[in-house]
Amino acid sequence: MLDPQKIAQLRAQPVAPQQLLIDGAAQPAEGGAVMECQSPIDGSVLTTLARASAADVDRAIASGRMAFEDGRWSGMPPAARKAVMHRWANLVEANALELAVLGVRDNGTEINMAIKAEAFSAAATLRYYAESIDKLYGEIAPTDASVLGLVHHEPVGVVGAIVPWNFPLMIGAWKLGPALALGNSVVLKPAETASLSLLRLAELGHEAGLPPGVLNVVTGQGAVAGRALGLSMDVDVLVFTGSGPVGRKLLEYSAASNLKRVYLELGGKSPNIVFADTADIDQAAQVAAGGIFRNSGQVCVAGSRLLVQSQIKEAFLEALSRHTKAMQVGDPLELSSHIGAVNSARQLQQNLRFVDQAVAEGAKLWLGGKQILQDSGGFYMEPTIFADVDPQSALAQQEVFGPVLAVTSFETEDEAIALANGTPYGLAAGVWTRDLSRAHRMVRALRAGVVHVNTYGGPDVTVPLGGFGQSGNGHDKSLHAFDKYRNLKTAWIAL
Ligand code: ADP
Repeated sequence: MLDPQKIAQLRAQPVAPQQLLIDGAAQPAEGGAVMECQSPIDGSVLTTLARASAADVDRAIASGRMAFEDGRWSGMPPAARKAVMHRWANLVEANALELAVLGVRDNGTEINMAIKAEAFSAAATLRYYAESIDKLYGEIAPTDASVLGLVHHEPVGVVGAIVPWNFPLMIGAWKLGPALALGNSVVLKPAETASLSLLRLAELGHEAGLPPGVLNVVTGQGAVAGRALGLSMDVDVLVFTGSGPVGRKLLEYSAASNLKRVYLELGGKSPNIVFADTADIDQAAQVAAGGIFRNSGQVCVAGSRLLVQSQIKEAFLEALSRHTKAMQVGDPLELSSHIGAVNSARQLQQNLRFVDQAVAEGAKLWLGGKQILQDSGGFYMEPTIFADVDPQSALAQQEVFGPVLAVTSFETEDEAIALANGTPYGLAAGVWTRDLSRAHRMVRALRAGVVHVNTYGGPDVTVPLGGFGQSGNGHDKSLHAFDKYRNLKTAWIAL
């Protein structure tokens, strides 16, 4: 149980102006450039962030390259790297509440979620990859006896990681864990509106024994600092979680520079499909509400399209409304809040534009739809449900990344599959049914990287997460994540 007094103390602490982390040292950006860091809780300015220039990013990359080449981390015995990463995970756990509260002040996620999905999840991820370090073996090829074919796994070198603002610690750790475990150097670019907890995470990494230069953090604007990482001739692999338009730019940057490998996780329009034979409509409705509205819908795998079989549509909508109304929107550092603040004024405006467009396109506004708690100075929005949404409308086809659910009904299993697969995305899906055969048929038929059955959300670090179609490529989590951060090298030896 979280201690409200402790949370109150932590939220009252002033946040010092933040600098770049390059070569193990806090450094100002070129010309002392800074940008304001605004809290979505009440609109107050928390502190300033260093605003990295392209030259600053190049310095960070050079530092990472130097560290990689001289072997201070890449050449360390795996067991020694493992010890550092375990110490890091311990420090993250020991400072979990501090990290979580700092992150919430910056990005607005409700604290009950942030403590688990951010701080403890990051610690678990670092630990998972720490434990894997000395269990990775190369291969011997099944050749004839005149040769020996060896397959070496080598770290790629310098990894650029550009991460978003919805779950900075969790997603940051998904990239940092496997990249660093293999011995790579990383230059991390946090999102403008969620940098504070990642800077602190990196600081804890150095306290744990990460050598200087192995993990550099460059804060600042995506279009400047992120772009510089993308266009660098000296970044070997670029990993990204964020929006489709930025993902496309990263591919262009790669083509315009050194053809660095680019791995993209680009969100989705994930269908949550409820069949009439679901065991418990009430439970399905409760989980469906959580699956779209937690963290104000700012979840890449959010179940943002609800497909419900027509004979239970009325009953399901009734249960869904009841559970949604029970979710309290409010100050994300109050333990009673189920839904916190929308990350930024810009994101809130985007959500409200989607609402207006859906109304204009003829969807039925069932619940919510408005900004609330304006007096707080922060950015809050009612959980919003649209019924009878046209599957071809913008609301059914485009990712809102906000607390807006599109409900459409269907008659048959085939129709459900066609609707579910009828967007350019393919990140996640949910299926609610008592029929085991149908569940397995649906898992096979759905084009999505993760299919939940009789639940929604919750897969841990042991399983891969990656998208089909325009949801991206490559995988975070699990041992499969290592593939992004290593090269295969063949040795062909005549005997
Ligand atoms: P959102 O639209 O939800 O804010 P983005 O995809 O814009 O998501 O942001 C994800 C990350 O991409 C952030 O760290 C942001 O700074 C970065 N970013 C934004 N624009 C660019 C760009 N042109 N090049 C590289 N990175 C960028």
